[in-house]
Amino acid sequence: MANFETVEVSTDLLIVGGGFSACGAATEASYWAKKNGLKVVMVDKAALDRSGAVAMGLSAINQYVGVKDGENTVEDYIRYVRQDLMGVSREDLVYNIARHVDSTVHLFEKWGLKIWKDEEGKYVHEGRWQIMINGESYKIIIAEAAKNALAEAGGELYERVFIVDPLMDGNRCVGAVGFSTRENKFYVFKAKAVVVGMGGAVHVFRPRSVGEGFGRSWYPPFNSGSSAYFTIRAGAEMTCQEVRFIPVRFKDAYGPVGAWFLLFKSRAISAEGGDYMVERVDELQNWAPYGLAKPIPANLRNYLGMLDVDAGLGPLYMETDEAIQKIAHEFKDDPKAFKRKMKELESEAWEDFLDMTISQAILWASLNVKPEEKHSEIAACEPYFIGSHSGASGAWVSGPEDMDTPYKWGYANMTTADGLFAVGDGSGASSHKFSSGSHTEGRIAGKAAIKYILEKGQEPTVDMARVEALKKEILTPMDLMVENKGKMTDPEINTAYIMPRQFLHRLQKIMDEYAGGVTAAFKTSKALLERGLELMSLLKEDAGKQAARDLHELTRAWENTQRMWIAESHIRSMLFREETRWPGYYFRADTPKMDDENWLCFVNCRWDPGTGEWEMMKKDIWNIPGV
Ligand SMILES: Cc1cc2nc3c(=O)[nH]c(=O)nc-3n(C[C@H](O)[C@H](O)[C@H](O)COP(=O)(O)OP(=O)(O)OC[C@H]3O[C@@H](n4cnc5c(N)ncnc54)[C@H](O)[C@@H]3O)c2cc1C
Repeated sequence: MANFETVEVSTDLLIVGGGFSACGAATEASYWAKKNGLKVVMVDKAALDRSGAVAMGLSAINQYVGVKDGENTVEDYIRYVRQDLMGVSREDLVYNIARHVDSTVHLFEKWGLKIWKDEEGKYVHEGRWQIMINGESYKIIIAEAAKNALAEAGGELYERVFIVDPLMDGNRCVGAVGFSTRENKFYVFKAKAVVVGMGGAVHVFRPRSVGEGFGRSWYPPFNSGSSAYFTIRAGAEMTCQEVRFIPVRFKDAYGPVGAWFLLFKSRAISAEGGDYMVERVDELQNWAPYGLAKPIPANLRNYLGMLDVDAGLGPLYMETDEAIQKIAHEFKDDPKAFKRKMKELESEAWEDFLDMTISQAILWASLNVKPEEKHSEIAACEPYFIGSHSGASGAWVSGPEDMDTPYKWGYANMTTADGLFAVGDGSGASSHKFSSGSHTEGRIAGKAAIKYILEKGQEPTVDMARVEALKKEILTPMDLMVENKGKMTDPEINTAYIMPRQFLHRLQKIMDEYAGGVTAAFKTSKALLERGLELMSLLKEDAGKQAARDLHELTRAWENTQRMWIAESHIRSMLFREETRWPGYYFRADTPKMDDENWLCFVNCRWDPGTGEWEMMKKDIWNIPGV
């Protein structure tokens, strides 16, 4: 076996991940841990300052309810999420986050985040729930607060450690194992409770950007389904694994469109100039009641554009020039003021990208795009798993303790595995948390996990034979390479192993062609999904044959395996749900209609670690009375 030193770390609470939700968990848990003499350890695969989906920064906070200013109520937010997810949301979880999210945003401001204000000192809104920020350093600010809180409570932060598997004692989670991405070290974390905040998943499907553009995506390339893998492998129940997210973004560099739609009031059009939201409005009747209420769900907006593309009316464009001209129009009688306004709008347009998707600004520059003069192409991206945004996949977690919810079995955000909590993209059916809501959910879970430790925490019993077996399995890719590389002339082509990149292409091809990816125009069917599962089972056989020359490839190999597991749960959940509920995200061509009578429910699944079998379940949807 490859020679890796084993490092053991013992703690009370272990937080795996270092993004928005994990930082929320670390900040809050540290406060309660310090009061109670407990230890918190946080582990991130990357460097906390620039890890996760907010690494490049953001230009808006997407969840601010504005309760103190009487802008909205928490109930308004519940209705919004219910509408956007076509009726499928855990309203108890959405409620719990929405009632606390404003306080999180106020903390962000206190920690130094610049939130735009108008002349009256009120936050500048991009849309109803979104507020504008100077967010290039958003992640650094939130990470600093988490680091400070950890340090004050005597906690520890491990960076550049890739978490692979959970450690279980029966149904209780007692830690995690992983490896350093920089040194030959294998880590064993032993804990009384674990919070999972390792984000969602990208590159499960073949991306639009292949060849020289490979790796580019809307979702950050560093999140590979580690949260889902961790909770599935712990035997925890999962929910909404069929609910992927497909954003429509500026084509090829995935630049954000929120500011264009919401702030600039821009239109999206077909190549022939038709506004698909207007011309295809009748289609929305088929998706009533959600198609007929406002705001129109994101998947249905996607769908109307996709119908244009199917009809040969592509490419689609964002009317940037028209939007800018329209806003500047009110200054038309004053040439100087008009010029000034145009300059201001132009710089806002570029700044929106520079704040969060720098590559889009570079692409625009390289293509000589002047947004004030010419419209720009948009397209539906490949599918992603991001339960905190407009997707919904993640673990099935317990509801708030002070609420009479049917989904409660203990502590807030605890999964069905004891002592294992999930947050952010890791917890399902509570979409539209975004950065602020994910941090809030982390805070809720961090506090609940400390309460769990105080009331039920036990010294973790870790089976060291299992740890050794995991170490051997996790390091296998390095061993396979050493043992076999000399057998062939090309180190990348070998009958004894498969390189991580080749494995990734195979996974992406299956998902793309059978599970409704870009080249399948986001359509699938029972027969396609069943064939996809068949191919997936063969792929699974080869997962343990991935080989790695170095730590970099070892990371890639395990990212792939984690992606493969979320992919399988996705296919199984789409297969189980015999209807089409989210056209625009995926379309089951053999069951093309929404079927409320049979399928207005959650689809849950669980992999049994004892038998290796999957169980698929329907769970009732509970609406908060009166909302
Ligand atoms: C392109 C894009 C644009 C967005 N725009 C907005 C916006 O404008 N406004 C807004 O409010 N929200 C926005 N969001 C949503 C917001 O970024 C997410 O909701 C939020 O980051 C989710 O938090 P998280 O903790 O679940 O995941 P992340 O913040 O992504 O954090 C995941 C963490 O897990 C770590 N990790 C991953 N795998 C492992 C592993 N195996 N071991 C250890 N650590 C691991 C990562 O390094 C990272 O630290 C956007 C998201 C994306 C992708």
